[in-house]
Amino acid sequence: MKIIVSDKKSKNEVKIIFSQDVDSTCLITGGKEDVIMMKTEKVDKMTRRKWYLLVREMIKEVRKHKIESVRVIWSEITAYEELGENLGQAFAENVIMANYEFRRYKKKPKEGWKDIKKIVIDAKKQDQLKLKKSIKKGLVIAKYVNICRDLSNTPGNDMTPKILVSEAKKMAKEVGIGVSVLGEKQIKLKKMGGLIAVGQGSANESQFIIMTYNGADKKSDKPIVLIGKGVTFDTGGVDTKPHPYALDMMMDMSGGAAVISVISALAKLKVKKNIIALVPAVENMPDGKSFKPGDVLTMMDNTTVEVGHTDAEGRLILADAITYAKIYKPDIVIDVATLTGASLMALGERATAVFTRDNKLAKKTILSGEKTGDFVWRLPLWEEYESEIKGNVAEISNIGTKNNYGGAITAAIFLHHFAKDFRSWMHLDIAPTMTSVFDEYLAKGAKGSSVRLLVDLLCDE
Ligand SMILES: [Zn+2]
Repeated sequence: MKIIVSDKKSKNEVKIIFSQDVDSTCLITGGKEDVIMMKTEKVDKMTRRKWYLLVREMIKEVRKHKIESVRVIWSEITAYEELGENLGQAFAENVIMANYEFRRYKKKPKEGWKDIKKIVIDAKKQDQLKLKKSIKKGLVIAKYVNICRDLSNTPGNDMTPKILVSEAKKMAKEVGIGVSVLGEKQIKLKKMGGLIAVGQGSANESQFIIMTYNGADKKSDKPIVLIGKGVTFDTGGVDTKPHPYALDMMMDMSGGAAVISVISALAKLKVKKNIIALVPAVENMPDGKSFKPGDVLTMMDNTTVEVGHTDAEGRLILADAITYAKIYKPDIVIDVATLTGASLMALGERATAVFTRDNKLAKKTILSGEKTGDFVWRLPLWEEYESEIKGNVAEISNIGTKNNYGGAITAAIFLHHFAKDFRSWMHLDIAPTMTSVFDEYLAKGAKGSSVRLLVDLLCDE
């Protein structure tokens, strides 16, 4: 889809009119020109949050009528006070996200896909340059949001750790950044006990992906390390998930997909920072060789961990990745993971859970969430919770040992145990926002959670 900024009219485009006075959204034909009337919120009730949905709803409406080209009047669609900055970027992001479908396994219909080919934004001459720039940035980010969704939506049989490696390599090549990969042999040499244990029941070899982008003026500038959970399929292991809880678990690498997408987008946008992305990629399977409840693992940093539950595997692989990150002497470390069902219990499906002791970073992240529509909500990472993961036979356990409450927090506390040495560390539990919500005007399946959030956070810092 093309987004063109122009003040020249053409007959081929269907005009979209935004109005709070119509009864409902509809297509009007038979007049001088076809028009889509979009019913909007009352002017004083419109917020940035609602505006994103309006933009997406517009795409849904245009697609419904199989219209290929449309025209919107920019001054009309932005005539609300509370919308804030960078609307061209937000418009482009939401249009491209709403136009997405996961089509890999579907055959092209004879009449072709009902895609929108062109959106013309009718804007005043003096606004055009700034708007074009903003849209251009939005298009880059949206592209990587949708790539992230493709990676996450791909089923487990076509998304093994090695396939994720080749996808990461493809994306890195496109933007000219470095990739290296540790195979199982090297993972064992590094004594990454968590990663080894989780992957040992799988026929597919575990991989550890390292992507490097040096965008700062000085190569010696301390990098920001992004870590993404890359469980390409999570059966729960020996403590197997009952039906239907494993059905979406091809998406348990959504954190990994997100950080691969974020570093690629930042490189494409030529952000002046040094960024590293680490993705421990494994498959968690039940097998004769699988790790078992009660097993004691020695992690890369020598911490001993008793396995309270084999489905709490994400934190085991992330812990080793966090330890690995120490070699970079990072300024900030951020991990992204579909980590706990408990975060869904706490927040529902509309916010990513944020954990950090860096108040400044937390504030910035919440702001980026509001700005991008990739919403987050902060949960506690208090010291008091640390005693709740004390092990019975090992130093710590991979689930809470005192009660069954606050599982999203005990998971974050577990990760924090390995991240203590960093100046600044933040954990994003994206389990709540892994898939789209029914009323968000997005295709079912992966949402590309945290790509917009992190690009925004790391762009302007
Ligand atoms: Zn799991």
